[in-house]
Amino acid sequence: MSLRMSTLFVRTLRDDPADAEVPSHRLLIRGGYIRRIAPGVYSWLPLGMAVLRNVERVVREEMDGIGAQEVHFPALIPREIFEASGRWAAYGDGLFRLHDRKNADYLLAPTHEELFTLLVKSELSSYKDFPLSLYQIQTKYRDEARPRAGILRGREFIMKDSYSFDLTDEGLAASYKAHRDAYERIFTRLGFDYRIVFAVSGAMGGSASEEFLAPTPVGEDTFVQCTNCDYAANTEAVEIAVPLPMTATEHPAQLVLDTPDTPTIATLVDRLNSIDDLPRPAAGQFSAADTLKNVVLKTRMPGTDKWQLLVVGVPGDREVDLKRLSGQFEPVEVAQAEPADFATAPGLVKGYIGPQILADLEIRYLVDPTVTNGSAWVTGANVAGKHAAFVVRGRDFTPDGEIGAVEIRDGDRCSRCGSPLQISNGIELGHVFQLGRKYAEVFGLTALGPDGKPVTITMGSYGVGVTRAVAAVAEQTLDERGLCWPREIAPADVHIVPAHKNDTVIFAEAERITAELEVLGVRVLLDDRKASPGVKFADSELLGVPTILIIGRGLADGVVELRDRRTGDRRDVPVADAVAEVLAEVRTPR
Ligand code: ATP
Ligand code: MG
Repeated sequence: MSLRMSTLFVRTLRDDPADAEVPSHRLLIRGGYIRRIAPGVYSWLPLGMAVLRNVERVVREEMDGIGAQEVHFPALIPREIFEASGRWAAYGDGLFRLHDRKNADYLLAPTHEELFTLLVKSELSSYKDFPLSLYQIQTKYRDEARPRAGILRGREFIMKDSYSFDLTDEGLAASYKAHRDAYERIFTRLGFDYRIVFAVSGAMGGSASEEFLAPTPVGEDTFVQCTNCDYAANTEAVEIAVPLPMTATEHPAQLVLDTPDTPTIATLVDRLNSIDDLPRPAAGQFSAADTLKNVVLKTRMPGTDKWQLLVVGVPGDREVDLKRLSGQFEPVEVAQAEPADFATAPGLVKGYIGPQILADLEIRYLVDPTVTNGSAWVTGANVAGKHAAFVVRGRDFTPDGEIGAVEIRDGDRCSRCGSPLQISNGIELGHVFQLGRKYAEVFGLTALGPDGKPVTITMGSYGVGVTRAVAAVAEQTLDERGLCWPREIAPADVHIVPAHKNDTVIFAEAERITAELEVLGVRVLLDDRKASPGVKFADSELLGVPTILIIGRGLADGVVELRDRRTGDRRDVPVADAVAEVLAEVRTPR
């Protein structure tokens, strides 16, 4: 079936919408693909639906291809189910909550781990029923703090989510790999330039976890790639090379120094370098990197009121990256401590905090891995106007643990090979991870093994942002003239433009070619409007169908023009060959 611009439900806009922050959003609105209803809530018009359905088709084919079976769960879920997993509270403000007429609590599901687990539990009981993979393509609701960039971060969006159910860890690893491979095929077919990066497991806990990211400057996720080896990770999960551990006895004993009026690290460093008899570090002079900065934060479980203080130690030449920390603490919330929080811990002397006393104060202390075991630091002496030198980890303080806390910089070293790392932005397209037995334990999902003993099922969880993929492809492929769809998901294969307002010969030829292509199964978008060629050309570039066939003045000499939307290549072809030429374009894999 062909689409005709004269009747197609589309209105293209000349001007950019006022609220569009990123190019794909601007062009999807201008091209009449989507329309905004509320922040992060959009309607899909016919051209948008065509692209969306194509994305869904690719995802469905690849999921079916690995033997996953499609199901469909409701978005409207009773509270009890999320209460059981602890996520009614853990999701905090991110959850849309509502009541029915009997005042019972419901939610609009942000993901469906609980339902998949319960379904499998209710239907299956024997080891013979496993392994199993189920998926759905379904609408999710998340009250995102910052809905952004149109459908890139929506509050209502379509996700493909699948879950694998296995008896053993090896089984889970195999299911994980099958999904990962399927995702590679999906994102290749959708026309993405993508990277697979290590990720932390986030809200759901678990072990192996990787994200598929589309590199683009407008992406909200930052990730690092090694310039030498194939290591890549998002900034939450990245491990950078750290100095070798040292032995505590290499260092002189702790020394408390008078350091009045040193409110900043720079002033402290100056003061240190002016103390004559203070042993110097190997570099000769003190620098910010020799100091240990202790940042006071607080954490709490969502749904509770009680914040707990947390101190994080990083080298003084680095900043603490709160977003990176949040990613690792999820679902626990983490925030900067405020004056009222300090008031609860009078032992903390602002500006002079050192880890030496934190254990006594019963304040949790975590360090970045760059603060290696046995390393010596200049840090606060927990007395106003005083710092301490040669404060050694493992001798003078022992942190409660390590957490990647420093803001990653371009040029930080790879933990695998030592080469410089490079930071880029990307859009998260998909996420694969090994959930493990968490949900199975909560809901008692077991199978009777061959020996008659129950085995707890181990699960994998796999998501693809379907609506997000539409915007992300658009973002990666568009140019200054408009959208530029990869063939597999374009709303049509060829856009036929009679380059005249009303010339009957030209229009008749356009109709003939359209009819012939249609018979061959080619999806045609025909601009049969009685509009000027300029308007039609501009729209054909804006809408982004990969091949454009222009039937204009050349027809008198027996030629039509074939344009490649992406490369801009144009060539005249004999009108008699037009159908064959278009067909060849359409069938050329990209
Ligand atoms: P993000 O970090 O971007 O918030 P997430 O880690 O919360 O995503 P998952 O729960 O792993 O996302 O969801 C699986 C996929 O769903 C993501 O990889 C992403 O492509 C998509 N997705 C998640 N949130 C949104 C959203 N608000 N709008 C559109 N797509 C989304
Ligand atoms: Mg994720």
